[in-house]
Order: sequence, then C-alpha cells, then structure tokens
Amino acid sequence: MSKIIEVKNLNIFYGQQQVLKDITFTIEEGDYIGLVGANGSGKTTLVKAILGLVPSTSGTIQYYGIDRYQQGVGYLPQVAVTGNTLFPAEVHEIVGIGLMGSKKFPKKINKEDNHRIDDILRRLDIYHLKHKKIGDLSGGQQQRVLLARAMVSKPKLLILDEPTSALDPKVRTEFFKLIKDINENDNTSIVLVSHDLGSIKKCSKKIMLLDRELMYFGSSDDFTINVNFVEGIHDHMHMEVTN
Ligand code: ADP
Repeated sequence: MSKIIEVKNLNIFYGQQQVLKDITFTIEEGDYIGLVGANGSGKTTLVKAILGLVPSTSGTIQYYGIDRYQQGVGYLPQVAVTGNTLFPAEVHEIVGIGLMGSKKFPKKINKEDNHRIDDILRRLDIYHLKHKKIGDLSGGQQQRVLLARAMVSKPKLLILDEPTSALDPKVRTEFFKLIKDINENDNTSIVLVSHDLGSIKKCSKKIMLLDRELMYFGSSDDFTINVNFVEGIHDHMHMEVTN
C-alpha cells in the first residue's frame, strides 16, 4: 500500500496551550478513516495541519514522502444550509473554484476544465443542476456541489468535516453510501470527521480517536473491544458506541 500522508511526532500549541501531543500515524491509499473525538479534542486542528493551514510546533507531515504541503487533498467543509436565494453563483462556477488552486495565472476555466466539471457533476448525479443557483438548492444538493468542488481536481485524499450534520436522516444515509462508493471505486482515501461514532463506525474501515493525544488508531471492527480499555471514554465523549 502506498503512503499518502505520514504524520510523525506532531505537536501543536496555540500559545501556551498544547492542542495536539505527539501524534504519529499514516494514511494509506484506500483508507477510510473516521476521525472522532469530543469537542475541543483537536480534530479541526489536525485537519488544518494536514491542509497546511496551521504550522506544527514540532514534528513532520509528509505528503507522498515530501515534507511540504502538496496539491492532492480535497476538503469538504461543514455546510450551513441557508437557502439564501440571493447568492448568485451557479453550480458549475462553484465547482470550477476547485480547479483554481492548481492553476497558474491567468486563472480561467478552459474547455478541458469544463469537461472535468461536467464529468464530476455526472459522477455525483447533479449534472441537471449545472446552471442552478447554489442558494436555490436543498441541503443535500448543496452538499453534493461542495463535494464536486472538492473532487474535481481528482485528489487522492478527501477530508470531510462533519458532512452530514445539517442533513436529514434519509439524505444522510444516501450521502454515506456515496462516500463509500467513492472510496471503493474512485481510488480516493477518505478522512471523515464526525461526532457520530455510531454512524461512522458502520462505514469507515478505520477509526482515529483523538483526545489531544491519539487514543486509538486501527480497524473499526476492533474499536469497540479496545475502547473499553480507555477508562470512562463513553462518559467523557458523550458518544454511543453501537455495533
Ligand atoms: P475539535 O475540532 O475537536 O473541536 P479544535 O481543534 O477546534 O477541536 O480545538 C482544540 C483546542 O484548541 C480547543 O481548546 C480550542 O479552544 C483551541 N483552539 C482552536 N483553534 C484555536 C485558535 N485559532 N487559537 C487558539 N486556540 C484555538
């Protein structure tokens, strides 16, 4: 298995406060990792560090064996469903933003880019929404548009931040199915940040449990057994561990 990201002895402080302590792990091709932990456990900070947005105090993060942030990590932020019909951008324009990071000046969408945009819209079953305004779409549709934006540059790793918190249960189930399909059929590794340990345990292959330190990183199947050794973890995290 080839390594996509290798984090070694990562420490991050905000001022005097240590937020991540001696974190070491590897993300490999094909991984589907559920990143879980209580509020304030450092999940967002770890994601930002992987995206090259916060500096480490010490330790290293390698991308394909290189010590510097590389293109090739797609990021899906949390969606606040607003229903703001005044927001004027159309779906294809929003998705096109996902191609801008790798472009040199002039940053313009060309014919080949348009093909890539069309391809990803078809892949995610939202081609018919291409010329709709994003503010006119439902929460689930907006989520897919942002997923298209994250995927249009064909990243090897997709990081999804609490992607289903604003969705209703049916749309949420469909979204989890889609992510599993992308993981299995598009050669894309997934890191899914979630509070919902019950749901994430069912679809991810691995679990990463953070409490500023790495408390567990291993197979989802073994997680329930091992987590019982971490004293009081259920009370602490207010999470339900279900099979
Ligand atoms: P999580 O995503 O698991 O809720 P975060 O990574 O957001 O955790 O936060 C971890 C800790 O770092 C929290 O105590 C939070 O208050 C603190 N923190 C987060 N961002 C900043 C920042 N920009 N400056 C100072 N402290 C921060």
